[in-house]
Amino acid sequence: MSIAEPQFEELFREVILDHYRRPRNAGELAAPTHQAEGVNPVCGDEVTLHLEVVDDEVTDVAFSGQGCSISQSSTSMMTAQIRGMKIDQVNELIGHFEAQLMHGGDPHPALGDLESLQGVAKFPVRIKCALLGWKVLREGLGLQENDT
Ligand code: ZN
Repeated sequence: MSIAEPQFEELFREVILDHYRRPRNAGELAAPTHQAEGVNPVCGDEVTLHLEVVDDEVTDVAFSGQGCSISQSSTSMMTAQIRGMKIDQVNELIGHFEAQLMHGGDPHPALGDLESLQGVAKFPVRIKCALLGWKVLREGLGLQENDT
């Protein structure tokens, strides 16, 4: 594959590469209550997500995958952010992240490190990379597409 690597501001590039090289919550759970996997054939990205949900709260999460730095770092940051969240908060976070990528504008404070991916919005072909883990998350939790 030869999709050009997006150019990011230095600070953001560091955050993305840090998550890519040292993915958070890498691996799998012994007894996930929810799981899903997905691929982005355009880029060859793969993500498998394991979740443990107790009383509507994401109590544990792990992922494995391979692919470009955007897809893997986005998923790593996502897992770091959703641990301990209620399902409706997760749903809101998905909406904030999608809005950042699709509509631009200022990143929502809840996004944390995910703010570093705002530059992807300028590279439409890479948006699918950034959204892969989120698509898998939504599918794993059985959440509906946000109608935006
Ligand atoms: Zn990719």
